[in-house]
Order: sequence, then C-alpha cells, then structure tokens
Amino acid sequence: MSKQWRLTDRTRTLLTLELAIVLPAAALMGFSIWHLEHVQRSEALEAAIQREFSDVLKIAEKKSWEKANDLVTPVRKEFPSLDEGPKTKAELERILREHPEYSYAALYDKKNNLLVSRTQPGRDQDPVYCGYAQEDIDMVASWLPLESPRLVEHLRLMEDKGEPPVAFLDGWADHGNQHTYWNIAYFLLPETPKDRVALGVVAFDESFLRTTFFPAMMKDILTSKSGVLRDDANPPGMMIHPAKDSAPWLASANWDGGKPEAERRLDSVFPSLTLAIKYQGTTVADIETRFLRYNYIVLAALSLVMAAGIWLTYRNVSREMRLAKLKSDFVANVSHELRTPLALIRLYAETLELGRLTAKEKYQEYFRIIREESERLTALINNILDFSRIEAGRKEYEFKETNLAELVHSTLASYRFQIQQNGFAFEEQISSDIPPVAVDREAIARSLLNLVNNALKYSKDQKYIGVSLYRQKRSVNLEVRDHGIGIPTNEQEKIFEKFYRCGDPLVHTVKGSGLGLSLVRHIARAHGGDVRVESAPEKGSKFTIALPLDHPSQSGQAVA
Ligand code: ADP
Repeated sequence: MSKQWRLTDRTRTLLTLELAIVLPAAALMGFSIWHLEHVQRSEALEAAIQREFSDVLKIAEKKSWEKANDLVTPVRKEFPSLDEGPKTKAELERILREHPEYSYAALYDKKNNLLVSRTQPGRDQDPVYCGYAQEDIDMVASWLPLESPRLVEHLRLMEDKGEPPVAFLDGWADHGNQHTYWNIAYFLLPETPKDRVALGVVAFDESFLRTTFFPAMMKDILTSKSGVLRDDANPPGMMIHPAKDSAPWLASANWDGGKPEAERRLDSVFPSLTLAIKYQGTTVADIETRFLRYNYIVLAALSLVMAAGIWLTYRNVSREMRLAKLKSDFVANVSHELRTPLALIRLYAETLELGRLTAKEKYQEYFRIIREESERLTALINNILDFSRIEAGRKEYEFKETNLAELVHSTLASYRFQIQQNGFAFEEQISSDIPPVAVDREAIARSLLNLVNNALKYSKDQKYIGVSLYRQKRSVNLEVRDHGIGIPTNEQEKIFEKFYRCGDPLVHTVKGSGLGLSLVRHIARAHGGDVRVESAPEKGSKFTIALPLDHPSQSGQAVA
C-alpha cells in the first residue's frame, strides 16, 4: 500500500511567500540592523585608532625635536669663538671627528665676511661623499650672507623666550641621479655680542639620520607601552617618506606597505619629512571598503531572492486564479454531466414502468441505454472520488502482481460492445510476452477506460480505436489510438492538468470534467511510469502509458 503526498497549491503559495519573501525580508532587516551597528562600531574604532595614532605621531615629533636638540646643544657649546683666527679650522675638524653624526660644520661671521667650513675628516677619502658635502657647503656659502641677519634675529627671539637658540632647515637635493635628504642646524654662538651677526652651522650626515637617528626614534616610540602600541601581538609599523612623495624613504622592519592609517609632518626639525603609522595588514579604511563591498553583494543577493520570490508568488497566484476559474467551470460541467444521465435513466425507467412497449427490441434498447448511462455515471463519480482523494493526499494504491494482458482484455471486453455500437472500428493487440507486473488493478483499468472513453468522445467521422499492450526493454506499454480531432501541440502538455479542456469547439459540445487525463497521469506516475501523447489536429491521437518493470513496486516495496 502506498500513499501519495503532494503540496497543495495553497501550501505552495504560502511556502513560496514565506521562503522567498518573508525570510529574505527578515534577513534584509536583520542584516540592515547588524550593518548599522557594525558601521557605528567600526566608525568608533576608526576614530579611536586615528586618535591614538595621531597622539603617537605628536609624541614622535616632539621626541625627534628633543633628540636633535640633544645632539646639537653640546656641539654648539664646543664651537670655537669668533676671534680664534686660524685655529678655527682645526677646531671645526676636531668637532667633526668627535661627532661623526655630522657631515660638515661651518662658522659664519658677517662683520668680517668670514665663512670657515670643514667636511667630516673621517670621510675625506670618499670622493662621492666629499662631493655632496662640498655642494652643500657651497649652497650654504651662497645664502648665508643674505639670510644671516634674519636667521640671527629669529634665534635671538628664541633665546629671549628661554628656548635654546638652535633652528633647523631641511630639504631634498638632487646629486646626479640621487635624491638625498639634507638637514642643517644653525645656532647662535655662545657668548657672542648681541649686535654681532654670526652663526654656527652643522649638517646632519644623511646616512646617520637614515640608519641611526630615525630607526632609534621609531624603536623608542614603538616599544613605549602606551595606548594602541600596547598590542604586542600586532605592533604598528612606522615609515618616513618625503613630505611631497608617498614612497617610503625608510621604514620599520614590520612595515608591510599599503596606505598608512595616520601621518604627520615632522615640522619642528624635519619639515620635509612625514612620519606615517599603520597596523600590519590592511587599514581600517580598507576593511571598511571591503565590508561595504561585501554588504552590497549580500544586499544584491537578497534583493534577487526577493525578486525571484515576488515572481514565484505572482506565478502561483495567477495559477491559483486560473485554477479557481477552472474549478467553477468544472462544477458547471459536472452538474451537467450528472444531470443528463440521471434524466435519461429516469425517463427510460418510467417508460419501462408504464409497460406500454410492445417490441422486445425496444425493451432491450431502453435497458441498454439505462445501463450505459449508469456506467457513465459510475465512471464520472469514480473519477471525482479519485480526484478528491488525490487532492486531499489520501489516494492509496494497492499493488498486486497482475496479468496485465488478462486485465486489459477483460476491461475492454465489457466495453467492446458499446464501442462497436457507436460505429467504431476496434482493434486490440496484446503481445504474448507480457510479464506479470505489480499494479493496482482498478487504477489501471480506470486509466484504460478514461483513454478509450476520450477516443470515443473526441472522434468525428474517422471512427477508429486501437488498443495495444506490448513489452519494451524496461517497461510494459499500454497504448490507445484514435483517428479523432487530435490535440494542438501547444495544448498537449496542458491536457494532463486538472480541469483542463482543449479550446476545440467540439470539446465543448462533448461532456467532460477535465479530470480524466490528470487521473491517468497520477496513476501512471504512482506506478513509477508516465503517460505521453502524440497527436496532430484532425489526424488523431496516441496515448501511451508506460509501466516500468524495475520500479520499487515491482519488488513488493511500497511507493511513497
Ligand atoms: P474530459 O475528457 O473530461 O474533458 P480529460 O482530462 O479526459 O477531460 O481530457 C482533457 C482534454 O484533453 C479534453 O477536454 C480534450 O480537449 C482533450 N483530449 C483528451 N483526449 C483526447 C483525444 N483522444 N483526442 C482529442 N482530444 C483529447
């Protein structure tokens, strides 16, 4: 025994609505809320990181100023006084030797128009280095006489404010194809009369800044345990680049490229340099961008699902509407179908009751009509009952090993008379090699009768019905042929839908409920097979029910 379970149209529509619209809509709402929260959270995170990083950079700038001053202040104190004459050169050389962090030192006195300058003696064997240093000295020599009064005034103001009278100038210079950084410190010489325009100058060695000064400063900052830098698992990386160019000039070991999270120009001492900081991996802004892109994709996917849901619901609703119309047609058809045979049966029974008929043939004819009409009623009622069982999901089949040849033959035998009486040529071909098949006898007989009945109903002048039962490799086929009105190709699939009746005018003069073929298909499928039609308008139709031999019902298993 097996029970057929199907989704009703209503459940399907509700399910579609739920799965394809309500669920994505709920997901969309949840997603939007989550999104808003996440955006708020990541904005707060970004702001916090920005704040902490800019604090770090501010500290870094201050530290670089302190360190530079710490380097220059002792040198300033050691500088020769203005009137040392020829000893000045030797003094400058001594200072440079003791302070390898400088590439040259100079002393300028406007009163005597005197500029004494020396390059780092430890490196005077290096022609490239000496070339650079000399170029820089020449540059200083050309602008010091012009600028010195202003510079001195500036330094005196600093001194008056209690600040060390030391200031810095920096920039980038092109030496051949080399782009190098320079930074000079200029200061007031100690114990110089206020009205005397004189300056001491030292230039930082570029490689000292690059390999010692800045790496030490970065290390100092990165290992200081404050704020965001406390994260030992992922300490931020630092990088210095020219203020006008974002390509790194030097970077900490854990700098992994990409866009910095925060930047600051080292204005107080190194204004041509910018210090940048970020975490390894992507920046918060990058994460945001990726997050936003991901959100758009999710939104697009959800919208697509919803659009599909709306389309599916629309399809289901229009299907339901079509079905509702078909159902009302069905009610009209069925009532008509029930009323006609009942009226005929009553009329002929009453006539017989009166007992006025004389001819024996008349009696026979009237009895035959009553039998035929009641058979039609039975068939119709059986169809309706089956249909309602199927619709309610209560239709059950009882599969039993059956001699199909015998079943088909005996079913046709009780019908043969009626067929021939209607003037039809009837042909029955049953192969002798039909194996026993497990089928529901009644269901198969009903399918056959539905097909034969249709052949009878939908034939005009060419009155022919052929029934064949034959074996194919993996199935037994039951075939019903006629030379009737045929079915247009575009309607051949629809005729198996419940309540569907073709548009042909003849169809509407013939009684019918539109249920027969949908039952045939249901029965065939319950047996693991199917029914198909080959037909051409005005030529006739051929319906074939294929019952597979390897279906689970053949091994005695129940079919769900
Ligand atoms: P009914 O015959 O009660 O209308 P069916 O489900 O048996 O319902 O058939 C559905 C429709 O298929 C019929 O209304 C008819 O238009 C078409 N049809 C069925 N069988 C044939 C046939 N043998 N020849 C032509 N048309 C057919």
